[in-house]
Amino acid sequence: MLSVHEVTTAYQGLVAISEVTIEIAKGEIVLVAGANGAGKSTLVKSIAGAERPRSGSVTFDGSRIDGLQQHVITARGIAYVPENRRLFPRLSVADNLRLGSYMFRHEADRDDPLKLVFELFPRLQERLEQRAETLSGGEQQMLAIGRALMTRPRLLMLDEPSQGIMPKLVSEIFQAVKKIRDAGMTVLIVEQRMAECLEIADRAYILQTGRVLMQGTAGELMDNPDVRKAYLGL
Ligand code: ATP
Repeated sequence: MLSVHEVTTAYQGLVAISEVTIEIAKGEIVLVAGANGAGKSTLVKSIAGAERPRSGSVTFDGSRIDGLQQHVITARGIAYVPENRRLFPRLSVADNLRLGSYMFRHEADRDDPLKLVFELFPRLQERLEQRAETLSGGEQQMLAIGRALMTRPRLLMLDEPSQGIMPKLVSEIFQAVKKIRDAGMTVLIVEQRMAECLEIADRAYILQTGRVLMQGTAGELMDNPDVRKAYLGL
């Protein structure tokens, strides 16, 4: 479904990811892990169109998407929840969700994803009129994921959804990711909490200083002694 081929992305000459190649098949949950500064966010931004790769290609469902504008990539079926979530703080939960589906003219295109969002995150439904800035960190993350789902994506990309969230809500969010896949979507998730995330992921890539250091199925990585020591703290 998604093929990132030898992508290099730099910030004013400073190379953040170098010749990164990853493949994601339809229906997979794929984890991208690695230390701070390894290039995880740059990789998802390069796919989402928030950063422009210097070289390499990104192909989604058979078409090249690298170089396209972010809103065009969203319309093609890739939703991206950035690390800082970028909600509209003064707007209500309902309005934040509505803004995710502004491009749909037909009611059914807005109602179907909304039903899924409320199934996944009943707290959002209870807080529809509340301003986004008054939600807890975990609820804000739920809202950011909900808004992304309102674009009816085929591929959902989440950058560190567990950041700044209390442990109970982290597992709620990981369980929601599983349900999102079960609803027919494909998920790329960037996470530092690798051990917990491997429980729900099918496969993972580990980045180190802008390159793919290792890749494998969740089981292979959990059994790998080097990974256990360096990344899982076991
Ligand atoms: P973190 O978990 O800390 O977000 P990361 O693995 O997501 O780390 P990136 O944010 O992709 O890593 O950063 C990769 C490298 O690119 C780092 O050296 C970082 O300092 C640099 N970098 C990231 N964003 C920018 C930017 N806007 N301008 C300049 N350098 C940047």
